[in-house]
Amino acid sequence: MTRARAAVLAALDAATEPLSAASVAARISVRCDMATVYRALHHLEETGFAESFVLYCAEDGVERFYASAHAARAAHDAHAAHDAHAAHRHWFHCESCHRFVDLGACKIGGLVAEVEQKLDLRVTKHTMYLSGICGDCSKRSTRATRTSP
Ligand SMILES: [Zn+2]
Ligand SMILES: [Zn+2]
Ligand SMILES: [Zn+2]
Repeated sequence: MTRARAAVLAALDAATEPLSAASVAARISVRCDMATVYRALHHLEETGFAESFVLYCAEDGVERFYASAHAARAAHDAHAAHDAHAAHRHWFHCESCHRFVDLGACKIGGLVAEVEQKLDLRVTKHTMYLSGICGDCSKRSTRATRTSP
């Protein structure tokens, strides 16, 4: 693995939430340009070390986020060993503070198996995220409403 790839993977492994390519670049100490970061992310995804999804946020627009699939595998090795769909996590994105909340390991394997059987198709990947307002932000906005004259 090249130094850039190793650094990018380490940044994804250390992160507690999905990262945009720009925030990956900001977290690595190896000097490399954005094109190198994108290439490394692409390669890591192709080889199963990372995965990505395109998020639409009302405030920030459309952006691709990357997460380490390696860390997900390590955390859920029992399931991941025989179910590729279980090797990843899903996330909730708060449209107010823009943080991600970890929803845990994928739970939609049953739904995937059902459509595969019912519609005679083979699902090789899926993307799902939830978005809305997190608990902290909804508490803040309730307080603000209450205290306003
Ligand atoms: Zn929030
Ligand atoms: Zn956002
Ligand atoms: Zn899933």
